[in-house]
Amino acid sequence: MKRTGLKRKPGSPFSSFASRATALRRSKIESRMRKPTVSEGSKYLTACRGEPCYLRVPGVCRLNPDDETVVPCHSNLLEHGKGKGIKADNRFTFPGCGACHFWLDQSTVPTKEQRRAATLSALARWEPVRAQKMELTEMIA
Ligand SMILES: [Zn+2]
Repeated sequence: MKRTGLKRKPGSPFSSFASRATALRRSKIESRMRKPTVSEGSKYLTACRGEPCYLRVPGVCRLNPDDETVVPCHSNLLEHGKGKGIKADNRFTFPGCGACHFWLDQSTVPTKEQRRAATLSALARWEPVRAQKMELTEMIA
């Protein structure tokens, strides 16, 4: 006789129970994540080390894969928690070279929309890479 043991039918009462349990667990994890500790936050900064620039502003970025001016850049978008004198959450950081960072943070060249677009696309490019990198780091640790 074949054992079908662990297979769960989609219509079974267990499947809805399981997804509820997962949802509960998830909301707990999320509320824990809302206030990252210093060490949790710094993991995001550490992950930026040794990376190329993710801002890659056309005409600004030197696109050097070994650029030594790359630092973790904080998002300046309000939706990422940037407010009166406080930096955004470390989750909203991405590696950026000196030239792009200056363009984004200090120069008056980009419009608000350009800054926003550059930040969002840098984060979109960086987040999956960072997730993988952090997963690997945790496996080694
Ligand atoms: Zn750059």
